[in-house]
Amino acid sequence: MTDAAIVGTGPNGLAAAVTLARAGLSVSLFEAADTIGGGLRTAPLFDRDVVHDVCSAVHPMAAASAFFRRFDLPARGVRLLQPDMPYAHPLPGGGAAAAWRSITRTADHLGADGRRWRRLMEPLAARSRSVVDLFLSDLRTLPRDPVVPLLLAPRLLAHATTRTPFTTEAARALLTGVAAHAVGRLPSPTSAAVALLLGHAAHSTGWPLAEGGSARIADVMAADIEAHGGVFHTGHRVLDLAELDGIPLILLDVGPTAFLDMAGERLPSAYRRAIRRYRYGPGAAKADFLVNGPIPWANPLVGQAGTVHLGGTRADIIRQENATAAGRTVSEPFVLVVDPAVTDPSRAVGGKRPVWAYAHVPNGDTRDPVDLIRRRIEEHAPGFSDTVIASRGISAGQYEEYNPNYVGGDIAAGAVTLRQSLARPTVRWDPYTTPLQGVYLCSASTPPGPSVHGMCGHLAALSALRRHHGIRDRPDLSPEPG
Ligand SMILES: Cc1cc2nc3c(=O)[nH]c(=O)nc-3n(C[C@H](O)[C@H](O)[C@H](O)COP(=O)(O)OP(=O)(O)OC[C@H]3O[C@@H](n4cnc5c(N)ncnc54)[C@H](O)[C@@H]3O)c2cc1C
Repeated sequence: MTDAAIVGTGPNGLAAAVTLARAGLSVSLFEAADTIGGGLRTAPLFDRDVVHDVCSAVHPMAAASAFFRRFDLPARGVRLLQPDMPYAHPLPGGGAAAAWRSITRTADHLGADGRRWRRLMEPLAARSRSVVDLFLSDLRTLPRDPVVPLLLAPRLLAHATTRTPFTTEAARALLTGVAAHAVGRLPSPTSAAVALLLGHAAHSTGWPLAEGGSARIADVMAADIEAHGGVFHTGHRVLDLAELDGIPLILLDVGPTAFLDMAGERLPSAYRRAIRRYRYGPGAAKADFLVNGPIPWANPLVGQAGTVHLGGTRADIIRQENATAAGRTVSEPFVLVVDPAVTDPSRAVGGKRPVWAYAHVPNGDTRDPVDLIRRRIEEHAPGFSDTVIASRGISAGQYEEYNPNYVGGDIAAGAVTLRQSLARPTVRWDPYTTPLQGVYLCSASTPPGPSVHGMCGHLAALSALRRHHGIRDRPDLSPEPG
């Protein structure tokens, strides 16, 4: 009999399994899909030599989180390749704003707002580890570095409202594009938090891509789990917790509503009611392209960026995101574009390369996004359509079929609002526990929320080790010699 079952093998399920296995527990992992990885899958879609990241592509949080720092991806052979320019933002009229890893270079580029950008980012970048550890925590533990909340508070206040300290459109749009990663109403306290977390990371640990694709990250996590006795069961969707009866510890890398379905009447009705109040945010609709050359951006600066934000001015992005959050379709939604071969030349094979892009759309939207996204790229890169050899779209509605955690295509696994950042998925002092003894939630629907950082799984596993086995010391996660 296994000591612990993990349901779902996204980065959080894998991080939970690594943590438990390293503490000496035998773990069994159950994955509905035929391959492991959840948001960390990479596959050839059109051409057997060219691989595409099916979900996540860019890894600012895997480069920074406490879990991955301890797990040490580079020492396990995963090269995190850093673009010098983490992100760029084409502007109406042909201009473009960009962020380099160097704050000085970014400040010089931003001209009149350069000093303001430097004042915003530099103190956070100087204490990056503490900033990341505070944001990527269970949001219940006191920060180790007491200076960080003092740095964050005025910055959050300054960027959480429609007023902005920046005077140039370039700086305004640049930061708002980062805030839009919160996928929801703009501006808000959570969009400001996301802008500061991701914005400062661009100037510290960077926005890298994993050489060869995101699945490389899942592969080395799986290898560590197997090396410590873990066993994977793919193609096994757990529909009822009764399937796991007898296993003393169960960690669920699934959404809260899926948990209700699995647990049914075992859960107290008050908890079921509380979970039903959990809200999902807007959806993502993704287009994958196979192209025969780099994206022909009209402004060549944009072609140097790891990630490109297409949204126009700050006012445009706010309009797009608020309409989308309210469930209205817009003809020009916010779009994120990555041409992975810009950062990782190994992705271009025989003159062909992948392009990864997704648009923010209303939750559950069923429109095929390929033409929408192609047109959006074409606006800033005339001739892009002529480079396209093949394409495929996944609507927001289809994302849920692909991965039940993305309800209505919400890739954040729950709206990223202030309330739901703290009470994720509901109000509980230990957010990973459930009313069922030995059953824990560990998906992105728990703190600290979405992104590939492994912290939901790691913190849920630490909670389970503490409560169930009295183990208070963090297990060593570092690669073992040999
Ligand atoms: C299009 C897209 C782009 C993204 N881009 C980025 C990015 O660039 N950078 C970034 O950091 N993040 C990105 N994300 C977000 C990131 O992928 C997620 O936040 C992260 O994967 C969440 O991890 P998780 O382990 O909680 O869940 P998931 O990765 O969603 O994994 C959950 C797993 O559980 C399985 N599962 C669910 N229910 C069951 C069941 N009942 N039985 C068995 N298995 C089950 C699913 O099949 C899935 O494999 C993106 C996501 C998407 C979809």
